[in-house]
Amino acid sequence: MVTAKHPKVGVLALQGDVREHVRVLSGLGADVVPVRRPSELDEVQGLVIPGGESSVMDKLARSFGLFESLRQRIRSGMPVYGTCAGLIMLADRVEDASPGQQTLGGLDVTVRRNAFGSQLESFETELSVPSVADEPMHAVFIRAPIVESVGDAATTLASLGDGRVVAVEQGNLIGTSFHPEMTGNTVFHEYFLRRVRAVADTASATP
Ligand code: GLN
Repeated sequence: MVTAKHPKVGVLALQGDVREHVRVLSGLGADVVPVRRPSELDEVQGLVIPGGESSVMDKLARSFGLFESLRQRIRSGMPVYGTCAGLIMLADRVEDASPGQQTLGGLDVTVRRNAFGSQLESFETELSVPSVADEPMHAVFIRAPIVESVGDAATTLASLGDGRVVAVEQGNLIGTSFHPEMTGNTVFHEYFLRRVRAVADTASATP
């Protein structure tokens, strides 16, 4: 049985680093399922969109008939956590998108894909994320997007030393340019699961 303590959450499993997220979420006590079909999406109370390649994920979401269902669930308040390509999928606006690339949207932000250029394809740094964790966290960036502008509806959660924004939230949507699933730091996944539990508790309290 699905309970708020062991919520059923999905990892969008079209492409990307699905397994790492499944491992982290399972370790935190969630009942985790890979999501490839609308029927699988219907069963989950929250979703992680992994890193990978956002233009490919977009095409696959459309060819698997998932795109509109994902949009609807996002609009209806399902908690979603997107890392890297997942953040791009959640952004309302994208710079340097592939031709024809669409996003699911939901976060009132503009992201720039591959924003660090080829000389800095990947790097690691310490980040302070005061609303999520007391301690600074180690963050890994891989061909990462940057949040170029944050609209009125979204909130910045973390920035690099130079002020560039790398983590945001809006309602039940959370997005990070970096990959906590790769470092063993679970604070963002815990933050996401708290949202999932809060929404599940509200739903079960509604007569
Ligand atoms: N550069 C990729 C994209 O545009 C994202 C990279 C990642 O998810 N690690 O989708």
